Amino acid sequence: MDATTTHAAPVPAALFDGPFEGSPRAAAIIERVRHYLHGELADLAREHGITHEGGAPRELLRQVWRRSHALGYYGMTLPEKMGGLGLSLLDHVLIKEAIYASGSPFAPHVFGELSGPPRVGALARQATPEQMRRFIEPVARAELAICFALTEAEAGSDAGAVQTHAVLEGDHYVLTGRKRFISGSPFADHAVLMASTAHDPKAEREVTAFFVDLHAPGVRVEAGYKTMAGQSSTGDIVLEGARVPVAHRIGEPGRGLALALGRITVNRLLHCPAMVGLATVALRDARDYATERRQFGRAIGQFQAIAHMLADAATELAAARALMLHTARQIDAGAEARAEASMAKLFCSETAFRVADRAVQVHGGEGIVQGRRVEFLFRMLRMYRVLTGTSEIQKNTIAKELLGDLR
Ligand SMILES: Cc1cc2nc3c(=O)[nH]c(=O)nc-3n(C[C@H](O)[C@H](O)[C@H](O)COP(=O)(O)OP(=O)(O)OC[C@H]3O[C@@H](n4cnc5c(N)ncnc54)[C@H](O)[C@@H]3O)c2cc1C
Repeated sequence: MDATTTHAAPVPAALFDGPFEGSPRAAAIIERVRHYLHGELADLAREHGITHEGGAPRELLRQVWRRSHALGYYGMTLPEKMGGLGLSLLDHVLIKEAIYASGSPFAPHVFGELSGPPRVGALARQATPEQMRRFIEPVARAELAICFALTEAEAGSDAGAVQTHAVLEGDHYVLTGRKRFISGSPFADHAVLMASTAHDPKAEREVTAFFVDLHAPGVRVEAGYKTMAGQSSTGDIVLEGARVPVAHRIGEPGRGLALALGRITVNRLLHCPAMVGLATVALRDARDYATERRQFGRAIGQFQAIAHMLADAATELAAARALMLHTARQIDAGAEARAEASMAKLFCSETAFRVADRAVQVHGGEGIVQGRRVEFLFRMLRMYRVLTGTSEIQKNTIAKELLGDLR
């Protein structure tokens, strides 16, 4: 069997035992969701040969989304009036960490991370009743999938430099341009898409948000490239004179970026449990390998060089996790925590990658052969140092909070 495939049982224990930091409700959800991941989802992965590497076909993903919805997980993070549980951020972080620490290739699909409710985020608050009915409610029910499209070839870290142009013609906008690196777009039905409504997008910035039907004339998704982690869940959205009704504009013209980045602090923090969860899998695999692998007549974990690598990885991971949980508590208590969320994203991504690097080293030659889980995690965790705001951009945010606007 491919080493990246999830094993059904037993359910792995946490790396360290300690009192649970969240609510009793979150503890109960984690217990149930672990059984779901290690039980029926592990069976499904085995049955269809699904690994982290290859990803699952669209129909199988739909099956997982619908099942996760039926079990009450899919829309869990939505506002309560939309069927969500009204979780604290701390509980949300802990549940997500447990999902990723399961090592399941379906981990991103339990909440619909790539194309479900988390992609809509705070924009739900701006939606009209018609937009709620047509776009958001079907996503919350796992009937339709949605992606979030901001990045373009010339608008990456400088997100406001969007050149996709939306020109008003009667009761429609006509959209032309190309969105790049859009997660979930190969299997999404709609996009929340940012376009410039400025008269001249090169000269002025006026970014506006739209719901765009990806199956409409003038819209296509090109999904021919793969990331270094081997997954092909990212694509480009090409718009060639696509007609989008004015009624599908989200909020006022020029408010798109503010709406999209309105929850950036929380969103930055919410990437941390994925990294911490995956790094926990890498460390657990390295620990297990260090006890099983024997050289020179003893377990390699008896060599101080190996033991210290594991000790360093565990210490740094514990520090990253503490920063993540501390920031969640601060935001729950009403703090803005802008710098702290960037610190958490920066520190968790850099730490998780170092943990994965050490885990590969502990595995020796086995660690650099494709099909071994730590080899995949190394590539996957390398990506988080770039995704959703690079480490350099996080440092810019932290420095700005420290220094203020220097003139
Ligand atoms: C797999 C994948 C999935 C993605 N999913 C989505 C998605 O769903 N939706 C979406 O809209 N986007 C998505 N993105 C885009 C992602 O958010 C961007 O790639 C990221 O923000 C970096 O932008 P860029 O690639 O243009 O890099 P650039 O902005 O060109 O950066 C290049 C380098 O310059 C540095 N740099 C740039 N500006 C500064 C500065 N001011 N100070 C210091 N250093 C700087 C960067 O840190 C980096 O090291 C995805 C990308 C990938 C690879």
